[in-house]
Amino acid sequence: MELTAEELWTRIQAIVRNSVPQHAFHTWISSAKAVASTSDELMLEAQNPFHVEWLEDKFGPLLASAGEQILGRPFRIAVSCSASYDSASVPSIHFDTSGGDSTSRTVERDETPLPTADAPRPLLNERYTFDRFVVGTNNQLAVAACRAVADQPAKMYNPLFLYGGVGLGKTHLMHAIAHQLIGTDTTRRVAYVSSEQFMNELVTAIRQGTTAAFRARYRAMDLLLVDDVHFLEGKESTQEEFFHTFNALYDAQRQIVLTSDRPPKEMARLEERLVSRFEWGLVVDLRPPDFETRIAILRKKAEDDGLSLDDDVIEFIAHSCTASVRELEGAVIKLLAYSSLTHQEITPGLAQTLLQGVLRRQAQLDGPVMSPERIRETVARRWRVRPDALSSKRRTKDLTVPRQVAMYLIKETLGMSLARIGETFGGRDHSTVIHSIRKVEEDMERDPAFRSLVEAARKELIDSSQGDLHR
Ligand code: ADP
Ligand code: MG
Repeated sequence: MELTAEELWTRIQAIVRNSVPQHAFHTWISSAKAVASTSDELMLEAQNPFHVEWLEDKFGPLLASAGEQILGRPFRIAVSCSASYDSASVPSIHFDTSGGDSTSRTVERDETPLPTADAPRPLLNERYTFDRFVVGTNNQLAVAACRAVADQPAKMYNPLFLYGGVGLGKTHLMHAIAHQLIGTDTTRRVAYVSSEQFMNELVTAIRQGTTAAFRARYRAMDLLLVDDVHFLEGKESTQEEFFHTFNALYDAQRQIVLTSDRPPKEMARLEERLVSRFEWGLVVDLRPPDFETRIAILRKKAEDDGLSLDDDVIEFIAHSCTASVRELEGAVIKLLAYSSLTHQEITPGLAQTLLQGVLRRQAQLDGPVMSPERIRETVARRWRVRPDALSSKRRTKDLTVPRQVAMYLIKETLGMSLARIGETFGGRDHSTVIHSIRKVEEDMERDPAFRSLVEAARKELIDSSQGDLHR
C-alpha cells in the first residue's frame, strides 16, 4: 500500500527526529509541509527561500535516506518555497523598534537563522581534496588555477573553465576548491551542481511557480560550481536562466567554476553569449596522464587504500590503461577487492588475469592493442608519410617532425624506456630519443596549432584502443 505524502513525511520525521538537535528539528524540519509525492520523490514546501536552502542542503540527504529506509528504494526530497511566501513580508535584518503590531513578525524573526551562521554545505565527496590529487604535466596548469581560485575567489580567474575527457579529474578538482573554501571559512556559501541537476531544479521550480526562490538561492552563492556544462547544449531555456544566474553572480564578484568535456568554442549548440562569457576568465584543459603520472596515481591510490602493489604490477597497469584516471582507479579497486577476499598476493600475472575486463586487451593473442607500430602508423598517416620511413635514417624535415612526434607519443602512452624506443626506430641511441621528446614538448608549449595536431593523434589512438576494448 502506498503512503500519502503526509503519512510518508510523518514517518520520515519520526526516523530523523533523534538524529537532529531539537531546536533545529522544529525550525527546519517539522515546519515544512508535505505537498506531494511520487514513487521516488517527496515534495516539501518550506516557508521561505532560506528554509528551502537549509532543508535541501543540510538535511536533504538525511531525509532522503530515511525515505529510502521506509520504502526500500532510492528516494529523493525536493523542497520548494511556500506559495504564501512574499519577499516583501520577510522580516528585514534591522530590528523594528517602532512598537506597533510586531508580535507575529518578531516570532518569525526569531526563527530566521542569522546569516552569519555556518552556511549550508553542498554535497561533496570527502575524498576529492587537493591532497589526494596527483599533479602531473597533464594537469598542473588546471591544478594551479584551481588552487588560485580557492585561495582568492573571484580575484584571479572568473569564470574558471576546466575541460577534458571523462575521468580526468574535473569533478575532483571542483570539489577540492569547495572543500578548501569551506574549510577556511564556514560561512561561505557554496553550491555544487551538475548542469543536469540545475536544469531539473529549474523545471521543477517552473512547474511549481517557485522560480523566484530558485533564482534567489543560486544568486546568494559565493562560489558556484557547475559541472558538465556541455549538457546545456541545445537546452535553450536552461541556457537563458543560466545566463542570468551567471551575470548576477559575476556582477556581484562571486566566483564561478565550470567544467565541460570540450572547450567553449566547440560547444556548437550553446548560445554565443554564453560561449563568450565562459571565455572571459581562464579556460584550461586536463589531458590524459602520461606514463609517469599514471605510475604516481597508482602508487597514491594503492597507498590510500592500504593495498601493497609491487612495482611490476603498477607498471603493468600503467602500461595497459592509458585513457583516464577512472580506469586506473577501477583497476586498483578490483585488485583490492580480490586481495582482501582471498588474502592472495597480487602478481603481474594475476593482475593481468583479474584486470582483463577493466583493461585493454593488452596481453591477448592478437597482440598489444596500443603498440609502437600502431602509434607509428597513426602518426605517419596524419603527417602523410610512410610508416617505415619513420624508422629509416633519412633526416629530411618532413620525416623528422613525425618521427619525433611518434617517439613522444610512444613514451607518453606506453611508457617504454628511451633505449627501447631508440631500438624500434632503427637503432637510434637514447640521447636522440630524449632530444626528440623534449623538442616535441617545447614545440607544443610554443605552438598551439602543433599541439592540437599532436593531441588529435593522441586522441585517435586512445579512442581506437577503447574501441578494441569493447569489441
Ligand atoms: P571527470 O569529472 O573529469 O570525469 P573525476 O573527477 O570524476 O573525472 O575523476 C575520476 C576519478 O579519478 C575520481 O575518482 C578522481 O578522484 C580520480 N582522479 C582523477 N584525476 C586524479 C588525479 N590526478 N589524482 C588522483 N585521483 C584522480
Ligand atoms: Mg565529472
